Amino acid sequence: MGPLRNAYLDALGIDRWVPRNAPPEAGPEAGAAEQEPVVQARTSTPAVPSSTAKHANPANPLPVPLQPSTWTPLPPVADWGALRERVAGCMACDLCKTRTQTVFGVGNTRAEWLVIGEAPGGEEDRQGEPFVGRAGQLLNAMLMAIGLPRETVFIANILKCRPPGNRDPKPEEVSKCLPYLANQIALLKPKIMLAVGRIAAQNLLATDAPLARLRGKLHHFGEANTPLVITYHPAYLLRTPADKRKAWEDLKFARATYARIAGGGPA
Ligand code: URA
Repeated sequence: MGPLRNAYLDALGIDRWVPRNAPPEAGPEAGAAEQEPVVQARTSTPAVPSSTAKHANPANPLPVPLQPSTWTPLPPVADWGALRERVAGCMACDLCKTRTQTVFGVGNTRAEWLVIGEAPGGEEDRQGEPFVGRAGQLLNAMLMAIGLPRETVFIANILKCRPPGNRDPKPEEVSKCLPYLANQIALLKPKIMLAVGRIAAQNLLATDAPLARLRGKLHHFGEANTPLVITYHPAYLLRTPADKRKAWEDLKFARATYARIAGGGPA
């Protein structure tokens, strides 16, 4: 385990258990081929997943499915610049009245990994980039822990505008915004998608199942049957560090899935 990877596992809150008679650790280049660490959550705070708690709230609307009929796809745009412009000028829902700016997404437009979150928060609204606040720092650490510097993936959200007060997206907002994400997915053609949090997972999968039931298994998305892995939202993990251990399991699962596909195995 290289020191850099160790630093990111530390940020993720994962304890590394090293056998007493283990040889001293090698340099950073030793990291690639090594075994997975045995992990344990650092705290034992009891966890009630926010997704489950929110799901139980009758005021919490059902998600709008990404694929079926409740939204009309816009004629797709064939290049990233035009799509970015279209998003920047969007006035399809009331969020355009309260946003500072749209948050299109960021990263490598040739990335094989697409990370999908919920919606911009305050800091993202100010900076115009997804996941730049505290949750973003944890997301970066999560990605680094599986060997993915932020700039090697593409990161987008279900919504491109901040809901005031960071409330949950409304179904009508989601249905207006999903064509943009669908267009991003069509342009990127990712090899794997990682949805972080209940809102992203439920909308991508067109389900109202709680996140606890969605994580831990491989889903597939869209006509391209893109493998889709679900994990906790980093903001939830900041509030519930005991679940970082489960998030680490999800991340390892995503990494193994990607390795299999990249090696020519079945998706
Ligand atoms: N949470 C999200 O889901 N997306 C962001 O961009 C920031 C916080």
